[in-house]
Amino acid sequence: MSRKLTKSNAHFKKALTRLPLGVASNFRYWGDDRTIYVKKGRGGRIWDLDDNAYVDYRLGYGPAILGYADPRVDEAARQGMEVGGVFALSTEREYEVADRIAKMVSSVDLVRFSNSGTEAVMAALRLARGYTGRDSYVILEGGYHGLFDAVLWATSLDRWDPETTDEDPPLVPYSQGVPELVRRLLQITPMNDANRLEDLFRKNGDRIAALLIEPIQGNCCGITADPEYVRAARQLCDKYGVVLIIDEVKTGFRVAKGGVQELMGVEADICTFAKAMANGYQIAAIGGREDIMRKYGNGVAHGGTYTAHSVAIAAAAKTLEILDETPALETIAAYGERLQAGMGRILNDRGIVHSFAGHPSMGGLFFAEEPPTNYRDWKTSDYTFYDTMAAHLHDEGVICEPDSREPWFICEAHDQSCLNDTLAAFEAAVDRTVED
Ligand code: PMP
Repeated sequence: MSRKLTKSNAHFKKALTRLPLGVASNFRYWGDDRTIYVKKGRGGRIWDLDDNAYVDYRLGYGPAILGYADPRVDEAARQGMEVGGVFALSTEREYEVADRIAKMVSSVDLVRFSNSGTEAVMAALRLARGYTGRDSYVILEGGYHGLFDAVLWATSLDRWDPETTDEDPPLVPYSQGVPELVRRLLQITPMNDANRLEDLFRKNGDRIAALLIEPIQGNCCGITADPEYVRAARQLCDKYGVVLIIDEVKTGFRVAKGGVQELMGVEADICTFAKAMANGYQIAAIGGREDIMRKYGNGVAHGGTYTAHSVAIAAAAKTLEILDETPALETIAAYGERLQAGMGRILNDRGIVHSFAGHPSMGGLFFAEEPPTNYRDWKTSDYTFYDTMAAHLHDEGVICEPDSREPWFICEAHDQSCLNDTLAAFEAAVDRTVED
């Protein structure tokens, strides 16, 4: 199969005259000839301007956990619209959602809302600093925590050779415009190395406010921390008075009702949620331990004009009710397992070595015997087969991220017909990749 993208290509040219790269987010630009524009999404599928249908495993980078345009959530959102939007005052619904989150996630006593993952992590980091009176923080290699200056950093492995140096790789900003000054505040350490973390804490512990981690790296192929490592990190945070922030923007209300914390048996001091909590309506949350959260309004600033908008909070109330009270998450994980088993059969039949990482509801696919255990392994692995296969998959009617960094997100609407179509497309895409 080869798609026609006539209308998307024409729209791209028009959009380019008013939107940088013709899109609303850098990540949505896939090349001048390959950038597609969505006409609509329903269930587990999307349609582009040329009426090409795709089974979609990006789900807006995770939010559409029940499927696009879920009628239950959309009806709740319509009722939320009746309330009237934003008031510069609170509404009753906020309590309902906060109470639900606190009951689903055992580490959460109190909740504040915000509008995006970026905003929630930004607020969490400030809270940790306010609570500890310290400024520095530590993040893990391969993590992504949003678009703000403090976290838009990575280690540069390109010209770094562990054979010839004892130094850690240099920190580099992801973007121009990130001030150099920020570098002094953060340290980045490889995941799954508790000794290095302890070293860092021992040397700088009295300056470190927070350790910010994502134990299943939703922006790095679903690379997963050893739960022992996360538990060790918890203990080190306690020992050195560092606030443990677990970023559940992607894992929250997806990998388990209580998120990755439940899965790994670890409690954060503060955690952040967004994506799956309202099936795509725009809301995020910061949750945490009572003594820390009470710093809001007691020295630490938090607010936002659109925070807990009546549409978003109504959508969150309904989405979380469904995720909490129905077997939706079991269904999603079962679909993910079925998909991975089907892909595995197709690859095994062709003798193609592969493995999966993450969780069935957000799994990464690797063409290696074992999935990487940290960003350094992934960065030095060969992911060209994946990238070529992904391009063929798009042609065959399945949307996954063009590169292997983003896991495959599964929703409740990825039913057997979606899975059958996906596996047929996968088989064709793999064969085309092998032929290339
Ligand atoms: N944290 C994590 C773990 C994320 O995956 C993302 C977004 N991909 C963010 C924070 C930022 O969220 P947003 O794009 O809603 O600002």
